[in-house]
Amino acid sequence: MERHEYDVVVIGAGGAGLRAAIEARQQGKRTAIVCKSLFGKAHTVMAEGGAAAAMGNVNSDDNWMVHFRDTMRGGKFLNNWRMAELHAKEAPDRVWELEAWGALFDRTKDGKISQRNFGGHEYPRLAHVGDRTGLELIRTLQQRVVALQQEDEKLHGDPEAYIKVFAECTVTRLLKDGDAIAGALGYWRETGDFIVFDAPAVVLATGGIGKSYVVTSNSWEYTGDGHALALLAGAKLINMEFIQFHPTGMVWPPSVRGILVTESVRGDGGVLRNSEGRRFMFDYIPDVFKDKYATTEEEADRWYDDQANNRRPPELLPRDEVARAINAEVKAGRGSPQGGVFLDVSTRLPAAEITRRLPSMHHQFKELADVDITREPMQVGPTCHYIMGGVEVDADTGAASVPGLFAAGEVSGGMHGSNRLGGNSLSDLLVFGRRAGAGAAAYVDGLPKRPTVTGVEEARAEAILPLERTGGENPYEVHHELQRTMNDLVGIIRKAEEIREALEVIEKLKERAKNTAAAGSRIYNPGWHLAIDLRNMLIVSEAVAKAALLREESRGGHTRDDYPGMSPEWRRKLLLVSLTPDESGVRIEEKVQPSMRGDLISLFERSELEKYLTEDELAEYDAAVK
Ligand code: FAD
Repeated sequence: MERHEYDVVVIGAGGAGLRAAIEARQQGKRTAIVCKSLFGKAHTVMAEGGAAAAMGNVNSDDNWMVHFRDTMRGGKFLNNWRMAELHAKEAPDRVWELEAWGALFDRTKDGKISQRNFGGHEYPRLAHVGDRTGLELIRTLQQRVVALQQEDEKLHGDPEAYIKVFAECTVTRLLKDGDAIAGALGYWRETGDFIVFDAPAVVLATGGIGKSYVVTSNSWEYTGDGHALALLAGAKLINMEFIQFHPTGMVWPPSVRGILVTESVRGDGGVLRNSEGRRFMFDYIPDVFKDKYATTEEEADRWYDDQANNRRPPELLPRDEVARAINAEVKAGRGSPQGGVFLDVSTRLPAAEITRRLPSMHHQFKELADVDITREPMQVGPTCHYIMGGVEVDADTGAASVPGLFAAGEVSGGMHGSNRLGGNSLSDLLVFGRRAGAGAAAYVDGLPKRPTVTGVEEARAEAILPLERTGGENPYEVHHELQRTMNDLVGIIRKAEEIREALEVIEKLKERAKNTAAAGSRIYNPGWHLAIDLRNMLIVSEAVAKAALLREESRGGHTRDDYPGMSPEWRRKLLLVSLTPDESGVRIEEKVQPSMRGDLISLFERSELEKYLTEDELAEYDAAVK
């Protein structure tokens, strides 16, 4: 079997993985980057809106404290506040660093990095490159990897001496030595040949889980692999009940249902209307946000030109609020012909401005739906977009509870609490990608000796099983049933009896998945790949459903029809997921969220905290501000 020895193996080549790998290499560690799809093809590349960082370029009132407050509000105070603090403080440096590495951001008139408005952000905060920010971010990080490789060629005569990319290589198991990480097993997509990585530190940066749902903005490789790999290695996941349904995905034609329509459309003036032409978001401003959002169309429209003296349009409420509102309008029979609502920018901006600011959206609708967004509205509806839950990590180092395991980016949990603000993912993956890379490097430095991998043969045998069966289940059918179940029963609006039904279906699908068979050989065999991915999607779906059943309240990306509203009883409870020792299912334990540090809690007004926090926490606040 092909075998390689590294200090740090980074699984995933999106923004988090690349930033982690760059850091590990800069700290002198021999680093592998392993990715399931082509190098450069990750969700990060699809990010449109921008990276949130309080640089204050467009409004000088912005600073890390305002960003911290917005992030905590957006997450309904369930965030790991230390992560939110580090993120708000370090995001500007990470964006400037990108610029130093060659990123070409859009500029303000006076030549600074331009920043745009996004839902839940008090000031224009998203550093962007048109609506193709992720592409520039990935291009820049890849360029940085190449620059480091050129350095290595000069120093060691081999560009891959310290950093090497293994593209189209899927990791199926983390390997251990006792309790600690010792490496990983993967297979090459093209040949089906297996590959072993010997490494004392692994950074998971595998992104999201969207492919467990039918309607999703996520692409084929987002099957929750990192979430499942972490559980299988003995780590814990946190906040798995919180899934972000982005309010605006395409709804038509069916072949493109779920593809993202960036929030920048609303940030740049686009408005949502129902079939009666009503700008309905004014009807859905929750009490906790009443003083921050305009209550009339006139004020909302004035805000685009004068943000100091007007409140924001309600189209820019956090995503969970907008997604629920669209869902309610469609349910009430006021939807668009194809089951969404209308998102109109054509009557709000001149055509040339639309194509300048939103070139990808213009192209996407023209090519995929034959709709010219400079002349007519788009039809949009909620789509499964992002998971707030993920590997529970130490905020400062990205370390998971298993020695040698680290996680960053979407696969990690805590930073965004119950709901992520748009733009906070690109900055999250830069801030915590760097920290996880540094954490992994420091861990390797502190090891008395390298671990030895065990379990290679078992992991290989597990992966190969679907090819050895004949006449078993079709993996595509099992996948499709799982996607429908999650979409219909553990989707945007949930209730106990439906979640229980989903869990029963998942149990049956787990049995069926054990019997999946893939026809053909190991050579480029998507049926076999899906059969392997199914294990991960089922583990993750069970984690989401079990946590969703337990949390008897509605908060952020978890809405319970039978428990509407946030409950003080659940305010400080976090749900931790682990795997049973026989790997047959997931179990959940409760953890109390640690109290926020005094200097951070006192950044808020008491009157605001009263809307969210318990009496005990308010007493802590009173003590802190004294
Ligand atoms: P990803 O970029 O998702 O990369 C994951 C990597 O892991 C890939 O290389 C993949 O191949 C690899 N991988 C997965 N499983 C395995 C495995 N088993 N073995 C080996 N490799 C594996 N966020 C913002 O902040 N601003 C935006 O404007 C924005 N727009 C978005 C638009 C779209 C269409 C989408 C889908 C998301 C958007 N997001 C945005 C969210 C954001 O892009 C993602 O959350 C973020 O890019 C995730 O980055 P990541 O580095 O964690 O993972």
